[in-house]
Amino acid sequence: LAAGAPGEAEISEHIAQFMRRIGLETKVIEIKPGRMNVVGTIRGSGEGPTLLLNGHTDTVGIEGMEIDPLNPVIKEGQLYGRGSDDMKSGLVALLVCAESIIESGLKLKGDVIVAAVCDEEYTSIGTEALMNEIHADAAIITESTDLDIVVAHQGYAWIDVETRGVAAHGSLPEVGIDAIAKMGKVLVRIERLQEQIKGRKHKLVGSPSIHASRIEGGREISTYPDQCRIQVERRTIPGETRGTIEDEMNTLLALIKKEDSEFKGSSSIFLFREPMEITQCEEICQILHKSALEVTGRKPKFIGSGSWMDTAIITKHGVPVVSFGPIGEGAHAAVENVDLDSVFDLTTILERTALNYCGAKP
Ligand SMILES: [Zn+2]
Repeated sequence: LAAGAPGEAEISEHIAQFMRRIGLETKVIEIKPGRMNVVGTIRGSGEGPTLLLNGHTDTVGIEGMEIDPLNPVIKEGQLYGRGSDDMKSGLVALLVCAESIIESGLKLKGDVIVAAVCDEEYTSIGTEALMNEIHADAAIITESTDLDIVVAHQGYAWIDVETRGVAAHGSLPEVGIDAIAKMGKVLVRIERLQEQIKGRKHKLVGSPSIHASRIEGGREISTYPDQCRIQVERRTIPGETRGTIEDEMNTLLALIKKEDSEFKGSSSIFLFREPMEITQCEEICQILHKSALEVTGRKPKFIGSGSWMDTAIITKHGVPVVSFGPIGEGAHAAVENVDLDSVFDLTTILERTALNYCGAKP
């Protein structure tokens, strides 16, 4: 996300070395120059299901951080630094989980795949490529979730809206059509739409929303503006699709057109990220729940999240997936930290879950 950032190559190489050292069958897959996935497999006997453990190697930028972001410090059981919470700690937990499964000498029926993917913070080319490459029957992403189980999250659509007018000299109001004033009508409708949709409530992820984020238009002060553009963010809840959002925007523009025959406007979605939801009856949810209870003595909650995650890409491939990770705070913020005890707990919970789900051979 930060201009001039070096990419994940160095950390990917470090992880690949670790995987090889602990005896994982390791593949480094370069997706774009300097952007790679590292995938390690513990081979089972082929008689059980495959579990994917997924974490991302990228972080957001470090500008404005209050404590030296790249030299982590530990204070009162908290590790501080960029990526501590989002999500090097989750990534380390799944690597150490793999190491202790190998060290235990237990033979599994199904495979455990450990994937360190790139680009989650931007366009998710890592998990997109991974899911075209591997087969899994269930998956866990170890984004930090305070040791609760995220089974649903919001999605979003980023939308361009354009209104068109007629450019003319400021002295010619009978000729000029003001595209900015026309956009005003769109903005009023967007505000009204927000009022309508906030009443729709999903039990886990809350309400959808819509707001304008950016606006530009006009040429110079003495000219009627012939175009105006806004960018809009529409947060979605499970059940809403690209099609329903397109219809919603088309209806909004059509209603303005009905009142104002001069109105010319169009909209298009330039990025769409699906919301996701799975049922907590899925085997992976139940095994994870039981393992977490055994390790921490606390029943994890099944929760929803407002943030979009790579889980949406994995469910699109028909694979039940949850996010489950440590206790932390400050993802993308000026102070970021993670609770180290929860990272240890997470590692043990993942190991139990993997052994249970994939089936340890007696
Ligand atoms: Zn993350």
